[in-house]
Amino acid sequence: MKTESRLFLLQAFLVGALTTFAQTSGFQKLDEWTEIWKTGQQTYFGYPANQQSEMRDFYKWYLEAGLESINLNNAGDPMTDSPWNMSSQAFEREVIEYFAPLYGFTRDNVWGIVTHSGTDGNNHGIYFGAEYLKNKTRMQPVLYVSDEAHYSNMRLADLQNIELRLVKSDAMGRMIPEELERALDTSRPVLIVYAMGSTFKGAIDDMAALNAVIDRHSEIPGVYRHVDAALFGGYLPFTEHRQMVSHKAMHFESIAISGHKFFGIDSPSGLFLCTRDVYDSQDDFSVTYLNRNMRMINCSRDAVQPLKFWWLIQKVGTEGWTEQAERIMECTAYLKRQLDAIGWPAWVNEYSNTVFFKRPSADIVNTYNLAQGYDERFGGNLAHVVVMQHVTKERIDRFIVAMKDDLE
Ligand SMILES: *Cc1c(COP(=O)(O)O)cnc(C)c1O
Repeated sequence: MKTESRLFLLQAFLVGALTTFAQTSGFQKLDEWTEIWKTGQQTYFGYPANQQSEMRDFYKWYLEAGLESINLNNAGDPMTDSPWNMSSQAFEREVIEYFAPLYGFTRDNVWGIVTHSGTDGNNHGIYFGAEYLKNKTRMQPVLYVSDEAHYSNMRLADLQNIELRLVKSDAMGRMIPEELERALDTSRPVLIVYAMGSTFKGAIDDMAALNAVIDRHSEIPGVYRHVDAALFGGYLPFTEHRQMVSHKAMHFESIAISGHKFFGIDSPSGLFLCTRDVYDSQDDFSVTYLNRNMRMINCSRDAVQPLKFWWLIQKVGTEGWTEQAERIMECTAYLKRQLDAIGWPAWVNEYSNTVFFKRPSADIVNTYNLAQGYDERFGGNLAHVVVMQHVTKERIDRFIVAMKDDLE
């Protein structure tokens, strides 16, 4: 063997050994689970987490800068100035200012925070809504939400001790305007949560039609509309349907979006935005030892999530998210076409990236992490795929091959 090729082999061996070394934690259980996660990521089809995290450079910078040894905390209001500088609120505020116009808010009429999750955003929407209505009307509101909306809204009504009326939805999962009309108590304030993406079928409540129902009743003492847009609120601003998530066009008071769904943050996080009027009508908890107004629910808040958001705005930004939104919509249509082509009963709502279909074998359900549902109007057992960034055409093709085998 020539010296050159021997050197090459040695080099290859060293690189291999180093890579192996870098990938092992020294804990067998952790290493085994890492393999499970890496494999599982390829066929993660049933849930709306973006599995194409673009955080690698972020973590690299974070460690190299030594930030892992600094304990930052975003307690307090990022939209007001503060002398407290052991937080990332300067970045959190820029995140809110970037997103505000995407959801139809103007800079001078918006307030917001980076939340811990979509649920945390809904918690703020329902809490702020109830406070807003109580302060304006001196009455307890009734909360209306569709029976296909995310369960967090029902849980939060219970937690906040607000009377809840579940409004029936149609077969595709949209709140039925006539049912809202029937459920309305027009003598009390209306707190309504619109599902922007019902959980299983991916339906969007028709806000214009539902607003019209409410507007017909001028006797209603007060109205507050919160939009639960955890998943769809991520990509819709980057499509031609952006007016559907626009405060200006749809007249809602607040909106919640998840950060780990479309935007690609690799851990639970989110956004909450509302109008200034809503913020101003909240009880003002002036906390002397924090030297702040504490209108948000949580005291300590994560300082790293706003940094990740800010990082992604610079690295991916409007252009990148527009491309991703286009690809997601294309791949959703592609998946539906491929299912149609093999004669597999499948449905998809307008504007939705969630395709639901007759439930395949348990094998496929497990391999592809498919979420399961049941509806007799669609033949009983159902499953769905949420087409996120990592659900590519190649992966859809492999999925369809598996489904075809299942048919036989
Ligand atoms: C995912 C989702 C939620 C919950 O959001 P988390 O970020 O998981 O707390 C709420 N509503 C809708 C419509 C969702 O898609």
